[in-house]
Amino acid sequence: MNQIQYSFFHRLQHAATRAKGRTALHLEDGSSVSYASLYTRAGQYAVALRAAGLSKGDRVVVQVEKSPQTLALYLGTLQCGAIYVPLNTAYTREEVAYFLGDAEPQIFVHGGFAMALESRFPQVAFRTLDAAGKGSMADAADQSVSSTEIGDAHGADLAAIVYTSGTTGRSKGAMLSHHNLSSNADSLIKAWGWRNTDVLLHALPIFHVHGLFIALHCALLTGTPMIWLPKFVAAQTLAALKDATVLMGVPTFYTRLLAEPGLNRRCVKHMRVFISGSAPLTPQTFAEFEQRTGHRILERYGMSETIINTTNPLEGERLPGTVGYPLPGVEARIADQSGVELPRGEVGMIEVRGPNVFSGYWRMPDKTREEIRVDGWFITGDLGVMAADGHVSIVGRGKDLVISGGYNVYPIEIEEVLDTLPGVRESAVIGVPHPDFGEAVVAVVVPSETELQLDFVLSGLANRLARFKQPKAIFNVPELPRNTMGKVQKNVLRERYARTFSN
Ligand code: AMP
Repeated sequence: MNQIQYSFFHRLQHAATRAKGRTALHLEDGSSVSYASLYTRAGQYAVALRAAGLSKGDRVVVQVEKSPQTLALYLGTLQCGAIYVPLNTAYTREEVAYFLGDAEPQIFVHGGFAMALESRFPQVAFRTLDAAGKGSMADAADQSVSSTEIGDAHGADLAAIVYTSGTTGRSKGAMLSHHNLSSNADSLIKAWGWRNTDVLLHALPIFHVHGLFIALHCALLTGTPMIWLPKFVAAQTLAALKDATVLMGVPTFYTRLLAEPGLNRRCVKHMRVFISGSAPLTPQTFAEFEQRTGHRILERYGMSETIINTTNPLEGERLPGTVGYPLPGVEARIADQSGVELPRGEVGMIEVRGPNVFSGYWRMPDKTREEIRVDGWFITGDLGVMAADGHVSIVGRGKDLVISGGYNVYPIEIEEVLDTLPGVRESAVIGVPHPDFGEAVVAVVVPSETELQLDFVLSGLANRLARFKQPKAIFNVPELPRNTMGKVQKNVLRERYARTFSN
């Protein structure tokens, strides 16, 4: 099917028709949802959304828990040709107010707590997904006769706006087209060798590209079943592995699975591949997981603006601490600030170009111009290095780079060494203001037992890292602050320890 002419929903509907008799979702209560009933329900939502005045290009902001209804609402929105705007369920009311003001949706589907915002946004229709009651979208869908009619959207039209986590400044809405979703899903299905017999264990949230696009689309476009868990609970995920063939997770999934004594080769015997992304997977976790299960986790690299850029290979060597090669059709390069490609082996900004790259930031033309070059290269904000054979390693976010005494320090290099020291469970390295060095390297560690002292850590690093990279202070914490996608919130740490060296 021509991806420019047709919307992504055309392709999904086509796949669903072929998969009609098959199960789409295995639910935790033992029941299941077939492909036929999932799309019948999506068709009911499409009718109910249109009846509420939604048409092509309108936005539907959604902040509700993960459920089969949420999935059907997502599909129904695409079916209408409208734009789906998922929001993290952890956002506070004031954060939600920002998104409503920015996205200006026609409809806001919420979980209840944002109801208080209704009077501030009189032009937005507030709806819930409760089973019944006034203002319930689910109720409106119940009352609607399902339709298979697809709204007038094409490949270049917007399918979704995904807000970035906004750890620096205002959160930006990445505009993704039907073609972005479609082309990336095709590449992933090919790269990860999706089979008719695959069963995806889906334990990710669906307000983020990882769970919503990357994981879901591989299954939906191939008409294969998913084991649908409302959230990740290590013991429950472990128990479900015996019926699955693919797991997609953030690194925390893997560290938590490793903490389960029951994780062994037997319980993963039907598993074909374990995939990790959204945050760096440490080589320790990679090695421990291989030792316990025999599986080498396949790490890949993506973001809200581009879905997936690079992946380690399904066949061939999966290198720990790297994110593999560009997907077919996607170009990646390491460049300097002016966009000149750097030689292999040199650290610089990762830039990507291809059909996966978003069309810009919603209502932020200046930001878009700053981050997408005129010839289509997107400046990712991640620092990386490309090896001679083309595989990419990420050395950190550009904004996490520490410049101490004029030297560039890449936190991940120090974290990797710290994590190998006895007594260190995990670590995060940040830069904080220093009167002499400009910035000083600070290590924040989670000890496995007793608190770690700076002297002890420095003696462990002495022969392994140049002096300027060694931490000037160390803090012990019971756990690192992480967002729901498992990313360490370095901005929180930088703020917390900002005054370490001030008088
Ligand atoms: P988001 O837009 O929330 O998905 O965040 C995207 C960012 O997550 C990227 O720009 C990277 O900084 C980070 N990221 C994603 N995958 C990986 C990975 N495999 N290793 C290291 N960082 C990653």
